[in-house]
Amino acid sequence: MQRVRQGEQRLQVSEIDIHNGRLSDRGKCFIGRNRNERAILGCGRYSMFDVLPQSVIGHHRSDPDGTVQSPRRVRIAIDMDEVMADALGEHLRRYNIRYGASLTAADLQGLHLEDYVPVAHREAAEAMIDASFFAGLAVLPDCQTVVQELAERYEVFIVSAAMDVPCSFDAKYRWLRRHFPFIPPTQIVFCGDKSVVDADYLIDDRARHFAQFKGRPLLFSAPHNAAETRYQRVSSWKDVRAVFADL
Ligand SMILES: [Mg+2]
Repeated sequence: MQRVRQGEQRLQVSEIDIHNGRLSDRGKCFIGRNRNERAILGCGRYSMFDVLPQSVIGHHRSDPDGTVQSPRRVRIAIDMDEVMADALGEHLRRYNIRYGASLTAADLQGLHLEDYVPVAHREAAEAMIDASFFAGLAVLPDCQTVVQELAERYEVFIVSAAMDVPCSFDAKYRWLRRHFPFIPPTQIVFCGDKSVVDADYLIDDRARHFAQFKGRPLLFSAPHNAAETRYQRVSSWKDVRAVFADL
């Protein structure tokens, strides 16, 4: 909350976190955030019920001019590589073929592949992630089913830092249309910095994307993030389903 203006006794609500009191674990209680309310408290015009996020309590409200606004559903942003798509599996496959190696994901605890391999191989390992890399990636187990379930209840956006590999746009888009045809193109976001994402949840394997994120982060387990302890972790899509089943 903040004062309406200097010397003004009334308060303006600018952001609300909503917690579900039925749950005892505070970390699981968070069910939504709304930053767009502009109700004034202290003038007797609104009750606290009036300023609750409509995406959570699910009824319509009217603007002062009488215009009825539709409630916004809870918005979930989902990363692609190593969350939906098995990018690491493909990277290991290409590396092992090129160097006659037998690396597995279990060898990479706390490290990316480029950080684990000999320095002499690093540049070649990075170059393996080209446009063709993304076209045939396997979908991680249960991802399609759970994302479809979420899309039926919530507003789901796919958010990929595709600018990391600019030539990947076309292959990534076609991969999403092939495996997730129920996600409309208008809900696919290719960007460079995910701090622009305005969502209630972000499911991502890279903790750096959580630094500026205003919603609730869910860290999707991957070998490189094994040592990360700052965020709630989900280790599979069944874990994701369980988190949202509590809402
Ligand atoms: Mg990722």
